[in-house]
Order: sequence, then structure tokens, then C-alpha cells
Amino acid sequence: MRILITGGAGFIGSHLADLLLADGHDVIALDNLVTGSLNNIAHLVSNPHFQFINADVTRPIHISDDVSAVFHLASLPSPVDYLEMPIKTMKVGSIGTLNALGLAKAMHARFLLASTSEVYGDPLVHPQPETYWGNVNPVGPRGVYDESKRFGEALTMAYHRAHGVQTRIARIFNTYGPRMRLNDGRVVPNFCRQALRGEPLTVYDDGSRTRSFCYVSDLIDGLYRLLLSDEAQPVNLGNPVEMTVLQFAQAVQAATESKSEIVFIAPQDARTQDDPHTRQPDITKARTILGWEPKVSLDEGLRYTIAWFRQQLAQG
Ligand code: UDP
Repeated sequence: MRILITGGAGFIGSHLADLLLADGHDVIALDNLVTGSLNNIAHLVSNPHFQFINADVTRPIHISDDVSAVFHLASLPSPVDYLEMPIKTMKVGSIGTLNALGLAKAMHARFLLASTSEVYGDPLVHPQPETYWGNVNPVGPRGVYDESKRFGEALTMAYHRAHGVQTRIARIFNTYGPRMRLNDGRVVPNFCRQALRGEPLTVYDDGSRTRSFCYVSDLIDGLYRLLLSDEAQPVNLGNPVEMTVLQFAQAVQAATESKSEIVFIAPQDARTQDDPHTRQPDITKARTILGWEPKVSLDEGLRYTIAWFRQQLAQG
């Protein structure tokens, strides 16, 4: 297949490109490099089966070759990014998804939307199954991300129902690994960077919020399986091993053998407003339909990720 990845120079997109190329596909990576980076795909540019297009999905997308699948990953998934760029976040989630779906329809291509656990908001059901409709504050600072992803899901189902597009919806939970940006503001880069620099690990509030962290190789395997399946309804992809943010800080401290202390801070900006208190995927559906579950333990995943951040810091 020739496969288009929007956000193909991003953290997850570039790993997905590696997997698809290794499996014999041709890949077109489209990215406007707002949060993606050419460094993530530098090793691919000389591959004749790989093409990079520097373009913004919120503008009409022109691809000269037919594609048979579209992974629509373009997004601003870090809370810090979407607080800084709220309108861009909404445009990419809405207009960008409209354009990507239009392209898939025109090319009779399969379409996979990278949706998010944020559609569940601050969940009142735990762990979260796909049947839960969520608890989102539409007018809070996270609303720009959450609602544009919810809109994206609705639009994807509309293209499926009205135009018969073969669509898939992946609800991606917290994912980590090499190629994350050192300064993207999320908890994994923050704690790794702080620990490696010997700076305090900044746990927000009392550190009792929970997250479940999935290593990137597991996640892209799930995305690929989902694309190849015939499931049009949303499927959760994430690691069900849940921990508090404080426990995660301690895990990073141990894995880096850092002398950094843990500090508890209460950010004065909107960073922790509507910050979900708990988050854990129910992956029964992915297990049943895709035969998928995460394989990489936190210890192993953190080793690879810390090695990456160590290298980034050494390069300045
Ligand atoms: N967090 C933290 N310290 C940091 C960054 C994040 O305690 O330096 C917390 C944040 O408040 C949230 C969790 O870690 O409860 C995960 O945040 P992240 O920004 O990685 O993404 P989210 O899961 O909220 O989308």
C-alpha cells in the first residue's frame, strides 16, 4: 500500500512510518513541523519508498499519487502546546480532519483518526471503556483539544455513514518513547529532563492524579492492527498499568539513578485546570478484536526513553 501519515514527522507518526516501511509499504509523511521535526525522519529521506511533504493539514491537501490508507495523526497533543496555541489546536482537529477525510474519500482510502483518551475528559467511569461518553468541560482550557477530537470522531463517523469511507478511530492514551520533545511540557519529558539535569521533579499539586503509560512501539502496533481490522467504532489503545504521577516520578528517579528531589508545585496558569484525576484504558476491545495488548514494561520503556533524552541533552 501507499500510506499517507499526517503528522508524519511527529513522535508517533515517525515511528509509524518506520513500521510501515519495514512492512513493505510506501509512506508519505505530511507535516508542517509546528511540533514535528525533520530530525525524526532524517534517517528516512534517502529511502525511495518514503516521501516527505511540508504542508499544513488545515489547508487543502494535494497529493499527486493515489494512497490506499490515511493515518490522520496531525495534532497538538501536549497540554502545554494546546494552551499556547488554542486556535491552531481547534483548526487541526476540525478543518484538518475534514481535509484528511475528504482526501480519503476522494482516493477510496482507508482512514484512521488518532483520537484520544481526552474524549473521556475527567472521567466518572473507571477504567474507561469505549462505551463511556465522557465528562468534558467544553469551555475550559482543555476544551480546545478535547472538543476538536470529539468533533473529529463525529465527523469520521459521518463520513463512514454518509459516504461509506472505511474509517477507524483509535483513542490513544498517554504514550511515551524516543523522539518526544524535551520541552513539550508533558510529564514524561519533564521528569526525564529534570532527573537527568539533577533538577527537582515538578509534581503538580499532590501527585495523586493517575495515568497509564504506553510505550510507543506497542502503540504503533495497535494502530496498524486497527487500520487492517474492519472495526469502525472507537477502540482504546493504551497500557492498562495505572500509577499516580508521584509513583511515576519515583520510577523516573530510580531509572535515571538521579539525586533529584521531588517537589510538589501548584501551577498558577491553566495547566492543571480540568486535569483528569484518573485515567486508565479498558483494553478488552483491543484484546478481543485486534489480539493486541502492550508488551513493553515501564522499566524497559523508560530505559529506551531515558537513553534518548540523555542523548538529546548531550547534543545541547
Ligand atoms: N504533570 C506533573 N508535572 C509535570 C507535568 C505534568 O505533575 O511537570 C502531571 C499533569 O498535571 C497530569 C499528568 O502529569 O496530571 C500527565 O500530564 P501530561 O501533560 O503528560 O498529559 P495529560 O495526560 O494530562 O494529557
